[in-house]
Amino acid sequence: MPEAVDVVVIGSGAAGMAAAALAAAEGLAVVLLEKTEALGGTTATSGGMVWAPGNAHLGADAAKDVAAARSYLDRVVGGDDPGGRRESFLAHAAPAIAALEARTELRFQPVARYPDYYPDLPGAALGGRVLEPVPFDGRLLGRHFALLRAPIPEFTPFGGMMIARADLVHFRRAMRSLPAMAIVARRLARHARERLRHPRGTTLVLGNALAGRLLLSLMQLNVDIRVGMGATRLIFAEGRVRGVEAGGTVIPVRRGIVLACGGFSHDPALREALLAAPARRFSAAFAGDSGDGIRLARAAGAAIAARGEGAAFWTPVSSFTRDDGSLAIFPHTVTDRAKPGTLAVDEGGRRFVNEALSYHEFVRAMLRAKMARAFLICDHASLRRYGFGPIAPIFSGIRRWIRRGYLVSAPDIAALARALGLAPAALGATVSRFNEDARRGEDREFGRGGDAYQRHLGDPAHHPNPCLAPLATPPFYAITLYPADLGTSAGLATDARARVLDSAGAPIRGLYACGNDMASVMDGAYPGPGITLGPALTFAYLACRALLQEDNFFPVPSEWHLPQGGKC
Ligand SMILES: Cc1cc2nc3c(=O)[nH]c(=O)nc-3n(C[C@H](O)[C@H](O)[C@H](O)COP(=O)(O)OP(=O)(O)OC[C@H]3O[C@@H](n4cnc5c(N)ncnc54)[C@H](O)[C@@H]3O)c2cc1C
Repeated sequence: MPEAVDVVVIGSGAAGMAAAALAAAEGLAVVLLEKTEALGGTTATSGGMVWAPGNAHLGADAAKDVAAARSYLDRVVGGDDPGGRRESFLAHAAPAIAALEARTELRFQPVARYPDYYPDLPGAALGGRVLEPVPFDGRLLGRHFALLRAPIPEFTPFGGMMIARADLVHFRRAMRSLPAMAIVARRLARHARERLRHPRGTTLVLGNALAGRLLLSLMQLNVDIRVGMGATRLIFAEGRVRGVEAGGTVIPVRRGIVLACGGFSHDPALREALLAAPARRFSAAFAGDSGDGIRLARAAGAAIAARGEGAAFWTPVSSFTRDDGSLAIFPHTVTDRAKPGTLAVDEGGRRFVNEALSYHEFVRAMLRAKMARAFLICDHASLRRYGFGPIAPIFSGIRRWIRRGYLVSAPDIAALARALGLAPAALGATVSRFNEDARRGEDREFGRGGDAYQRHLGDPAHHPNPCLAPLATPPFYAITLYPADLGTSAGLATDARARVLDSAGAPIRGLYACGNDMASVMDGAYPGPGITLGPALTFAYLACRALLQEDNFFPVPSEWHLPQGGKC
């Protein structure tokens, strides 16, 4: 008779790998399935920020922080908390981080300064509530390094070099400051050494460090990792989940299955059903996140929880074809919109939003106005100082981006308007008014630079307003922005222990969901940095705790065949 395993985890992002590592650390026999040829999902290409109220890195302030986060979420997300899931997140985020740091290779450091996205609301934090993974040496993965999904090329210049959050400012200033240039030179020298032996840099930061650290943990904890093996069906008997079909065979499970397939960013039918029409075309999430977890669970009677405009975590993106023919989707999250010398307009040539608000709010403004696209505009001085989308401030090769048809350039604002198909008079009036305000440092129309989050994304060295400068130095440039998602927030209805619920609200025995397969506790809001990965790790931890309490050891039907180990 084939041997059953305790737990099968489906999906290898932060949620899946954390659940698998924690379960294996408790001595359970765990199989992790990943349908693509690489591990890490969207997590591996993300910023790796983790919102964890009350985390131990806050020291004596930890308990106060949980209470503050509770008030803050009450305001941003809304008062009711069906099933106590939000409260469960608040109560367990810190223990989850502590367990991961104690039982796995995951290590975090606080991001001392990174404001929540509505920093003037009661309970908002200006930093410390959010953590980032400690940089990780990818060489520790040995041959498995090749299995870790690489970050998107636009974020890794010089042939696969990752740049830490804290180093970004040095790269921007390298041509203007000797100390910054010295730091950049050291980073480049290290990268050159790493490239002698590896196809990309091995000093990993951000989401790649998070995924890399979890992968190392899975290897150390003897998790049976099977890449290129997607789950295709859940098997139920006697009122509970009994196994999963993958690669044409069935893997029997004793305790349960954790769905962590990353949500439905690339499932056309669910996008059509749940996302606002202008935002259905593009996603910045990984193509493997194609609704499998939700479909598998729905076939077993699971319910889906959704909320219209709030069915996804939004970001504006731009798009172009890379030299190798692949399609690039560039998320304009934090690098350009709030910088001095930029503004965004609609197809009428008018500003429609405070450009420095969070990426989620920026797109919500587009969706409210039913906009399928917008234009982000800057002048030459701004591009050279801060970069623009994927175009770096130094070594940027501006002409290449223009030839590609990605960047539109013109010697004056009227010509730029004509090139974009906008009315020159309307765009001219918008830019004149914006410039007048920018010189005074006060955005009368939208209040840009009006709070700590916006100023954090601006340029602290720029005065009087870190987010405002006139567009005055030709040529002028524009990129087309589209509303898109960086993950979906509608998902499977679950309870406070990550158990998947059926349409009557009862748990489906042995079935768990975490990450973007689970309906987000943020319920369509985006309160701060790391609010998808924080809950992903927390509910992975809660699923693991619940799995430890599952005690159903059943005889495996003899016709079930347990496949041999995967490629790892
Ligand atoms: C550019 C960018 C930056 C971001 N930065 C942050 C940030 O700093 N902080 C934050 O909180 N969020 C961030 N996000 C969002 C965050 O990355 C995602 O919400 C999160 O990674 C989702 O994690 P997950 O584990 O649910 O799914 P994923 O990490 O996407 O992993 C899901 C995996 O499941 C696999 N899979 C799917 N179906 C099957 C199947 N049938 N069988 C087996 N495997 C399957 C997929 O191939 C994939 O590898 C960012 C997103 C983007 C795009």
